[in-house]
Amino acid sequence: MNAGTVMDFNENSDLFEGVPAFDDAGSRMTQEGGSMPLYTREEIESLPQERLVDHILQLQTGYCRLDDDVKFLNWEFKDYQNSLTYFSRAAKLAHKLNAATLDTIASVAIQEIPGYFCCDFAAFYLYEADEGRFRLYRSTHPEWEAELEASRDSFLPRLFTDHVYPYAVVTDQDGAVVETDTSAVLADGMPDAWRRALGNKAIVFPLGVKNDDNPVHAPLGGIIIGNSTGSLEAKDVEVSLIFGDLLSSSLYNAQLVKKLNDLTIIDPLTSIYNRRHLVDQLTTAIVQARRQGHPLSIIMADIDYFKRFNDNYGHIFGDSVLRTVASLLRSGIRDGVDVPARYGGEEFIIVLPFIGLDECMVVAERIRKLVKSHPVSCEGEELTVTCSFGVAQYLDGETMERFIDRADEALYLAKNTGRDRVAAT
Ligand code: GH3
Ligand code: MG
Ligand code: MG
Repeated sequence: MNAGTVMDFNENSDLFEGVPAFDDAGSRMTQEGGSMPLYTREEIESLPQERLVDHILQLQTGYCRLDDDVKFLNWEFKDYQNSLTYFSRAAKLAHKLNAATLDTIASVAIQEIPGYFCCDFAAFYLYEADEGRFRLYRSTHPEWEAELEASRDSFLPRLFTDHVYPYAVVTDQDGAVVETDTSAVLADGMPDAWRRALGNKAIVFPLGVKNDDNPVHAPLGGIIIGNSTGSLEAKDVEVSLIFGDLLSSSLYNAQLVKKLNDLTIIDPLTSIYNRRHLVDQLTTAIVQARRQGHPLSIIMADIDYFKRFNDNYGHIFGDSVLRTVASLLRSGIRDGVDVPARYGGEEFIIVLPFIGLDECMVVAERIRKLVKSHPVSCEGEELTVTCSFGVAQYLDGETMERFIDRADEALYLAKNTGRDRVAAT
């Protein structure tokens, strides 16, 4: 029997299985301090009355203390359970965010936030480094987004800028800020759209990184959550710290992966796709066209007398002509459907799914006019650039190489019949 754990005390028991037990001096004995004195019934009965009362009183006190200990253990257990719940939720969240794309991260954030913070509004912002601004990327209320974006320049920068850690904002009924842990952040109050979105309590948590590559904190985005019922609590700021850390590292990784991915598919000079990506995309497009029986065409474009630009104005200018033509090609096609790529030095190929030969010639003709009507300036001179175009529609069963060859033959025809024109095979 373990004397330190038994708490039974009843008449039929042979022993007062005393926990706590007391030595003769009445002080509490520890288990390490030696064996617990366990009294037999005879011993108890032989004790003088005062001594017995004394013992009973001490036992009661002991029970009270034990009761407190049990309560305390319960609290600790609940605390532990809460921590465990939070920990396992955080682990699940980390799992969802692991190797996620930007879109997934934004969706997960907007879906999960209401469960963590009990809020009615959540918005996910992305920092656009090129423009030095935060852009609303996703929110729980798409219908409010236009209005929120309209007032972002007057209000939003003050929410994120210069802040690295989450903070709470409390406003009165008129939307004036009555409390924030970074005072004067929002001293001028907030626009109507923001007042409606944030209610009277908001938590703002900037997302960013500070690591070996970014020794100074680099902003990545931000989250704003709002609650009209005002039930956000101080501990929510702490939770948002964990939430923000998870989102920040996922966002950083997603952007890194995207950068690496872009390096493998984007031509660094013209910023349109490279030949490798073109081959991948054309392979897929051919498979889909064959399977689904829809038309597929390509345009091959080559800058006329490009060598002269290099020879007369230098390579740097030649490069800028390439960039201009590439961006004009891109602006003349369907965004996200057609695939523009730099095929070689000053040759480009555009893949146009769902488009037959006639329609493709119309597109090529439109691009031809577009390029011709956008002269490139060099040292005050306006230089007209023209291109020749070869167009081909995919013939069922032919290889990709043959398909490209036919567009090349058409291009050759366009060159040989005067350049600055569109030809087809
Ligand atoms: P054509 O009308 O027959 O196409 O004549 P062209 O001068 O455009 O064609 P050619 O093939 O004779 O010359 C292409 C030139 O493009 C040669 C090459 O030095 C230049 N080139 C290829 N890649 C680049 C590049 O990345 N930058 C620059 N500046 N020039 C390039
Ligand atoms: Mg050329
Ligand atoms: Mg060429």
